[in-house]
Amino acid sequence: MASAGDHYLIVGAGVFGAATALELRKRVPNSNVTLLDSSPFPNPNSASSDLNKIIRADYGDVFYMKLALDAQELWRNDPIYKPYYHESGMLYAESKGMAQDFLQNYKSINVTPASEVFTAKEAKLRWGGVFRDAFWEGVSHTYFNPRSGWGDGDGALRSLIQAAIDQGATYQQAPVSTLIIDGADASCRGVRLEDGRELNADHVIVATGAWTSKFLADSAPDNKAIHADGRIIAAGAIQCSASFPADQAEKLKGAPVIFNAMKHTEGESIPPTADRRLKFNYERSFTNYEPHKSGQEISVPPSQNPDTAWNQDVPQGLKDEIHTVVKHTYGDWIQGLKIENYRMCWDAVTPNQDWIIAPHPHCQKLYIASGGSFHSWKFMPTIGQYVVQMLLKELGPKETTRWAWDRDDAGGALPEYLPSRDLKEIPGYSKS
Ligand SMILES: Cc1cc2nc3c(=O)[nH]c(=O)nc-3n(C[C@H](O)[C@H](O)[C@H](O)COP(=O)(O)OP(=O)(O)OC[C@H]3O[C@@H](n4cnc5c(N)ncnc54)[C@H](O)[C@@H]3O)c2cc1C
Repeated sequence: MASAGDHYLIVGAGVFGAATALELRKRVPNSNVTLLDSSPFPNPNSASSDLNKIIRADYGDVFYMKLALDAQELWRNDPIYKPYYHESGMLYAESKGMAQDFLQNYKSINVTPASEVFTAKEAKLRWGGVFRDAFWEGVSHTYFNPRSGWGDGDGALRSLIQAAIDQGATYQQAPVSTLIIDGADASCRGVRLEDGRELNADHVIVATGAWTSKFLADSAPDNKAIHADGRIIAAGAIQCSASFPADQAEKLKGAPVIFNAMKHTEGESIPPTADRRLKFNYERSFTNYEPHKSGQEISVPPSQNPDTAWNQDVPQGLKDEIHTVVKHTYGDWIQGLKIENYRMCWDAVTPNQDWIIAPHPHCQKLYIASGGSFHSWKFMPTIGQYVVQMLLKELGPKETTRWAWDRDDAGGALPEYLPSRDLKEIPGYSKS
């Protein structure tokens, strides 16, 4: 049981780890909290570091809808997050009934959303006609929620980590090699850094995102009970950023986030940043399975840094896919769009996209806070509360069950993003 005066080591300073550090210092003021990551913050290889991310409460799973509504209140009002929040609205162009599910879910929790459903034709006339040339073949209707938007990725993450430091947490740039797990009954004493130093703690929280499965297996190669064993899988998705000439800015003024859910596109675009950059995502994610010394194959983010941060060097197959998203989103209407950068962004995916926020059942003093599953950045303002509730044994029964290490994996918060192929199958991929 966690208590005042304890030393907590948090490995990983993405949203899970950083939010936990801040909340721990608020809830357990005498605690000694150390947040570890391998670079100065924000780490450009983390999923949480980005140009921007979508913030919405429209979920097909009412459980996360409620949590996202809570998070959005803090995005709008808490000075840590508010400067980075842009309520642009979000449009879905779809035909699979997402709008129906969202509206039904709002009804079930007695919330009246500001959303509207209209035809594709009507949507193409709105926002100054920004989507007039979009490729929306097969779209049966559109759904628009003006209360959704996006957040400035690095700005918000930096603000959160700084807030944790201001509250008394320590940020240490230190790549962690392994957990230190002692004894036959497995108890985590701390971590071993890559430079060989050891850091001891009363509690170790693993918030290592896409690196989690490998990190656990590296830490105890011969103790299979410690391994994630399919509970968390590293998956990547392709993104790109694009600039546009100043004379096109007027056309994009007031544009919402757009998600084209049709099979021919399955991608999103986030409206321009102040320096005129648009971001695009393609939803079809992929694994990267590699042999591990424990004898298993584990999906891991590629080890070369440029493979996980923004760069030019991604496989041609992924470039082709994201170029299609760009083309289908705005067609010829936005002229002079120039793709500047690409990125394979890696996240920790669970089979039903539920988080794992739980004590490790086979290792004392070890806790897992991971499983972002391509949808969890928006919970930056609240996710630390859930992790600390877990540490203090205050988490409600429903959350404890859904976020347990072992659960039934029913349902799915964002099944569209589940990996369906491996990086090695993508044209143009070569492991350098
Ligand atoms: C393409 C893409 C688009 C997304 N879009 C959205 C969106 O629009 N909206 C949304 O809400 N969510 C979105 N997400 C999901 C969201 O970004 C993630 O779920 C969330 O950021 C995961 O946070 P994390 O803290 O678990 O992991 P990360 O942010 O990856 O952080 C893990 C950290 O652990 C560190 N680490 C790992 N191993 C070690 C070690 N051994 N030693 C030291 N440090 C270590 C890493 O360096 C990293 O900084 C998206 C994700 C992707 C990939």
